[in-house]
Amino acid sequence: MPKITFLGAAGTVTGSKYLLDAGGKRLLVDCGLFQGPRLLTQRNWDPPPIPPDSIDWVLLTHAHIDHSGYLPRLVSGGYRGPIYSNSATRELCSLLLPDSAYLQEEDAKYATKKGYSSHKPPLPLYTVKEAQTALTQFLDIPRAGAFTISPEFSIVVHDAGHILGSSWLEMTVTENGKQTLIVYSGDVGRYNEPILKDPEPPSRADYLLCESTYGDRDHPAGSVADELADVINTTVKRGGVIVIPAFAVDRTQTLLYFVGQLMIQKRIPGMPVYVDSPMAINVTGFYNRHEEDHRAEFVKLEQEGDRDPLNLKHVQLTRTVDESKAINDVTAPCIIISASGMATGGRVLHHLAKRLPDARNSVLLVGYQAEGTGGRALQDGTKFLNIHGAQIPVRAQVVNIGQLSAHAGKSELLRWLSGFKSAPKQTFLVHGEPVALQSLKDAVTSQYHWPVTIPEYKQTIDLGG
Ligand SMILES: [Zn+2]
Repeated sequence: MPKITFLGAAGTVTGSKYLLDAGGKRLLVDCGLFQGPRLLTQRNWDPPPIPPDSIDWVLLTHAHIDHSGYLPRLVSGGYRGPIYSNSATRELCSLLLPDSAYLQEEDAKYATKKGYSSHKPPLPLYTVKEAQTALTQFLDIPRAGAFTISPEFSIVVHDAGHILGSSWLEMTVTENGKQTLIVYSGDVGRYNEPILKDPEPPSRADYLLCESTYGDRDHPAGSVADELADVINTTVKRGGVIVIPAFAVDRTQTLLYFVGQLMIQKRIPGMPVYVDSPMAINVTGFYNRHEEDHRAEFVKLEQEGDRDPLNLKHVQLTRTVDESKAINDVTAPCIIISASGMATGGRVLHHLAKRLPDARNSVLLVGYQAEGTGGRALQDGTKFLNIHGAQIPVRAQVVNIGQLSAHAGKSELLRWLSGFKSAPKQTFLVHGEPVALQSLKDAVTSQYHWPVTIPEYKQTIDLGG
């Protein structure tokens, strides 16, 4: 009978990898990197639990590194088959995988300099060259609908509304003439987002794998546009500058949408908006181009508004370091959107170093700020932030807008699950921290009365009966 093995994002939120075995063939669904504490990232370095060359196909739900970032390692370990994804996911991976490799190489260099590492000499997990090699194995699949991988595996792809190209999957596994339908949620997005479509509802499954990132909480209610307008107008009145650390993928584009619409509606004054991140600029191009992912309201704005709903004609995209440095000379009110989203690195650190000491300015935090990051320190009200070895006094106003997240909150996950017309034989909750997994399990059990399992790392389960 077919089997599933949980090779990542089981009991944790990163490292998504699910191996399906049927008829002597192997399909790996997602190939994510473990991130966060050392105990988890060590798994990226361990010998793979199954030989990479024993896998026949890889299929991706979306481009986020915790779903794609192990690919270069899989390929350098001997995987030679295709990596199936839609074209938007392939394009995002063409930026994210080399970037991930670059960070690995920088970490190795830093470890060499500081003389700490379990490897001598310190090695990167993979190199930019290895990431480029993995990219040559990508093969495009349709954005929506059915495609067949082999007699054992056929797939129907649905929009998950999480980031550009993100999908959830209906996978029909055939063994000895018997079919089993496995649904995998990928990462479920938000409802009523401005650019991307709502997550498509599921309808049936024999077995369900559902993510649980926000299985224990909802995002704050309230209007993002109102809160943004408030922060921007208050800051402009003080003659200050607004710095927004933002993820290059999805958060930057959503912010551009809200800021653009506020300007068009004259709810905030016209002022320069800088997107200071080469990756965010490229990703914004992808977001504009992939119309198949745009929701109807966004398409309507595109048709009415000169094809520019993000108001990009008023946005200054700064690619070079010199252009980035030139923003330091801007003294009039402006908005600076820059990566990284949790102020852990990247150009935003220079902007924070420059703008934090001035009480006229504001720093706007959007989305989750993990423990130990600069963003979290600001959120917690630190009086000084260590940037590039200097203690920078924090006098700027710090505001957190928690609604902006690409992940479904608890009630949105339950709404997505409500699409099922009948109970799956078994629901596996994955991609969550233990508290979130347990909380979602309790909710699904009490609300839908489905059998729910929280699988463990490397656990194999028969999908029969
Ligand atoms: Zn994701």
